[in-house]
Amino acid sequence: MAMVRRSVRLRDKVILKAPTHDTPNNCRKRVKENIAGSDSDDDNEPTIRRARKKYKKSHSKPKATRTQGLLGRLAHDVPLEVVFEIFYLLNPGDLLRLARTSRDLRRILMNKTSEIIWRTARKNVKDLPPLPHDLNEPQYADLLYESYCQFCHEHKKRCDVHWSFRIRCCKKCALKTFPPLIKFLSKQPAAYRYLDVLPTGGVIVSDNQDYCMMESVGNNEIAEQFRAEFEMLRTSKARREWISRKQEEAQVTREHCRMFAKWLDKRLWERKHGRQDVC
Ligand SMILES: [Zn+2]
Repeated sequence: MAMVRRSVRLRDKVILKAPTHDTPNNCRKRVKENIAGSDSDDDNEPTIRRARKKYKKSHSKPKATRTQGLLGRLAHDVPLEVVFEIFYLLNPGDLLRLARTSRDLRRILMNKTSEIIWRTARKNVKDLPPLPHDLNEPQYADLLYESYCQFCHEHKKRCDVHWSFRIRCCKKCALKTFPPLIKFLSKQPAAYRYLDVLPTGGVIVSDNQDYCMMESVGNNEIAEQFRAEFEMLRTSKARREWISRKQEEAQVTREHCRMFAKWLDKRLWERKHGRQDVC
């Protein structure tokens, strides 16, 4: 009776643990260890085979022809130069969506050497402001073309990009996350709180047919990063230089925000009047 109980325990152990190992070798080693503790090899042979089969199934490379569809096969079978030529005709939103369709396409598009594809795609979008200095191409495309809130991860009808914070979120999360500017600034280090060092933004608090009311806000997470950087500096000269550098960066970011707001207004106007043929 005792032997039966041990075999059942062993079986559970093999089935549960084998598929989670990193390599087939580890799998075999663990299975062997379990076998060594058993009373009968014959009792457990089918169980071990099942564990190995399960392991192989969970770690095998999917076949491109059966599991990845047409786009997966395109990335897998068509010469890379041809795939690139197709990519050059797209916009960054198309590239983002393509990168999610298969592992091969993602590997191609997210490779650093594919930056030219993203750059070309960005230039296919009429008058789009240039890539911000602190974002890479896929990050810029993600902010621009995705529609889910980066806080609650829900797809909302209206998700605004807060360019000064590099965040896209819904109104509810924005109101919950970003503190009102006056209160926010009062908690920042006196050395730079009013020196236009910290990025600030605006959140729509009321929006109807007649008017749109916005509130100026800050971002606590960014402020904490700034404070940590500032406090690491030990000399007043280093701190002055840091403030000066951050002011310049904030100025560049503000300028980009203005360019983007102008571009978006124009795009919405063109869409409204049926004059938009790109993007
Ligand atoms: Zn949200």
